[in-house]
Amino acid sequence: MKIGMVGLGIMGKPMSKNLLKAGYDLVIYDINQEAVQEVAKLGALVGANSKDVAQKSDVIITMLPNSPHVKAAVLGENGVLEGMRPDAILVDMSSIAPLASIEICKSVESKGCFMLDAPVSGGEPKAIEGTLSIMVGGRPDIFEKVKDILSVMGKSVVLCGDIGAGNTTKLANQVIVALNIAALSEALLLGKKAGVDPNVIFEAIRSGLAGSTVMEAKTPLMIDGNFKPGFRIELHIKDLANALETGHEVGAHMPLTSQVMEMMQWLKSNGKGSEDHSAVVRYYEELANETVRSDNP
Ligand code: NAD
Repeated sequence: MKIGMVGLGIMGKPMSKNLLKAGYDLVIYDINQEAVQEVAKLGALVGANSKDVAQKSDVIITMLPNSPHVKAAVLGENGVLEGMRPDAILVDMSSIAPLASIEICKSVESKGCFMLDAPVSGGEPKAIEGTLSIMVGGRPDIFEKVKDILSVMGKSVVLCGDIGAGNTTKLANQVIVALNIAALSEALLLGKKAGVDPNVIFEAIRSGLAGSTVMEAKTPLMIDGNFKPGFRIELHIKDLANALETGHEVGAHMPLTSQVMEMMQWLKSNGKGSEDHSAVVRYYEELANETVRSDNP
């Protein structure tokens, strides 16, 4: 089976490398030539554009930043849709608005082809290991056809419902992560201001009810003041914007998400948009005129 890959960024590049390692024939395209050359060296064929990639593939994967990029690469001139063969399958693994997935899927199906939305969680380290969590939306029979391919890139591959359900699940994930980071920031700063070292708080509570994967991953970064990404604040803003837009469309109210969105927007306005999302703690530090840096590192 021939696979096409459009989008070779932080995530798409290691995912492509894992597909090549697993023995799949891969055709690639990205507007960034440097990324294309890096993957081509490992044996991938280079497509002239997204249309050319689709013409040469049975399954086309897209891994792009947001809805407008996916619409441009799939529905635009020389895009995937122009090149898709009958019965070809588009698997969009980007994190985009669920309503955009539904809209793109309609165009794909009108050409006698199929589409799944399949965003991921886990970030660059898990993309490299091939242990991402993949949340899929679409027809069960189409899901079965590409499940083996997805299993090369992910440890957990779950069909969540119809088209768009993968991205709805991903938005739920992003809301939970954002709110956890804000809760952690608020609590650690409370401790510091009241005279208890944040490292001590972490050690004392990490195995209790408040403990979480977010706490394990982000507390050490906050205490060290290390905000190298990771997952950039501007990408998390994109996800929260999609979550709020979707919430408004379907009548789900999200007051906590709105608050954390404002914190992230404030950080972006202050030049921190490229930092890791754990930098939300900087917002609290600014308000309290204190940091969560440990007294006993
Ligand atoms: P990225 O910005 O590193 O990569 C995106 C790539 O798409 C770039 O190489 C860019 O040149 C290319 N591109 C943009 N428009 C294009 C077009 N029209 N045609 C061809 N190529 C085009 O982004 P990323 O970090 O790889 O993220 C991709 C998606 O995965 C996003 O939706 C993101 O939210 C999601 N995601 C990222 C992470 C993470 O930790 N980075 C984790 C989980 C999910």
